[in-house]
Amino acid sequence: MKKRLRWLLTTTLAAVAIVLVAASLIKSPAGQAPSGTPSAPKYIFIFLADGGGTTQMEITRQYNRYIHNEGVAITDKIIKQGTLGLLTTHAGDFLSTDSAAAATALASGCKGKNAVLSICVDGSVPKTVMEVAKEKGMRVGLVTNAPIYDASPAAFISHVENRRNYSAILDQYLKMAPDLLLGGGRDYFLPKGQVGGERKDEVDLIKAFVSKGYQYVSDKNELERTKQGKVLGLFSLQDMSFEIDRDKKTEPSVYHMTEAAIRLLYNGNSRGFAVFIENENVDTASHLSDVASMIHDYREFDRAIGLAYEFYRSHPQETLILVTADHETGGLGFTQGLINFTSTAAANRVAATAEDYKRIQSIPISLRKASEILGPNPTSEAIDNLMKEYFQGFTLAPELKELIIKRQPLSRTIFYNPTTNALGMMIAHNIQAYWSTSGHTNQPVFIAALGPGAEKFKGYLDNSDFGKNLKSLLERGKSH
Ligand SMILES: [Zn+2]
Repeated sequence: MKKRLRWLLTTTLAAVAIVLVAASLIKSPAGQAPSGTPSAPKYIFIFLADGGGTTQMEITRQYNRYIHNEGVAITDKIIKQGTLGLLTTHAGDFLSTDSAAAATALASGCKGKNAVLSICVDGSVPKTVMEVAKEKGMRVGLVTNAPIYDASPAAFISHVENRRNYSAILDQYLKMAPDLLLGGGRDYFLPKGQVGGERKDEVDLIKAFVSKGYQYVSDKNELERTKQGKVLGLFSLQDMSFEIDRDKKTEPSVYHMTEAAIRLLYNGNSRGFAVFIENENVDTASHLSDVASMIHDYREFDRAIGLAYEFYRSHPQETLILVTADHETGGLGFTQGLINFTSTAAANRVAATAEDYKRIQSIPISLRKASEILGPNPTSEAIDNLMKEYFQGFTLAPELKELIIKRQPLSRTIFYNPTTNALGMMIAHNIQAYWSTSGHTNQPVFIAALGPGAEKFKGYLDNSDFGKNLKSLLERGKSH
């Protein structure tokens, strides 16, 4: 009897233990174990679509659906299985932020002023999430198709009063020595006097990184051959190409750079990593009212998120994926309305349909490229040829053509380019995809999160909560 009782007790305890272990393996919707003290995520992806608001994402989602019969990873995987929130975007000093103040909030967890990187409005200098991750022994990396010293990536590693002080930013990169730097902006690595060099001194920063043990790569093939170790990849002098114009053989996209980042940061690493991955061209295309370029770049950004999602599926208890934006650019939206004041009859109404995505698909070049083709003094004939060659099925109103020839902007514009300005409006008139500004707006942006800690990014948050919450997650456990 005594023996039987002991057997009963042992088997019961074993069964309870099995149930507990099994329960801890069942994931909650956010991918986190439902019980026990949560540990810090070991692998962190911060995806940022610069200038990519909810409309940029939604228009890309619809384009994928209507043109390619495909979904997008952001809604179908990250949001569906994870959490969704909204972030405010205002800066410490203005209602509409620039990338510097927004990235300060995301990277350091405090409100900053426009043009200032990771210094709070009160002058304090907090640690960035990358600095905290590095102190924990995690590998850190920055990936962007902007110059690598541009405001958004720079706020994650450097603290400077002026975002244009690129040499100071890069000096801080060299000192901090992140494990991975992939992007454009070779110009500020080259010494004074070298072709394309923008530095005011004789420092060869590529050599300085190589002497610290970095492999240096400058095209897609070289990047693909990297296996492990610290890598500095600079793929253009300044901005990298729009996806729509990219030389597919030689220049990597954000997708290819993400593929390399996962390989390089993961291989031979037991301490985890934090990587920032940005598509800057969503912002640039939106400043230029270029809906086709914006969609192509956002698609590539979403494909990169798909790669992180595959990684998450192999490491669901340890991987946190965050997808957000710093602000919306352009006030983009498809509209429906009346053509003029003559009547409200159906014949005088316009509204976008799925057919309009086919017309966007027919555009083969960016508006910036179109502007380069026309040059600084375009003739009427050159504009007609451009329309015939690249914008078949679109009509350019005479008054817009006039603005291109006379070099006059349509409205307040950030990037002075009458050609892109007028062509953007030409596309809007034809397909009803209108831009309300060529600058940033103060719309809140979505934050999608999947993995351990995702629940901290739910609801309506200030953008500085993003940095605060991420830092507190990193500081959670020192178990790795
Ligand atoms: Zn911008």
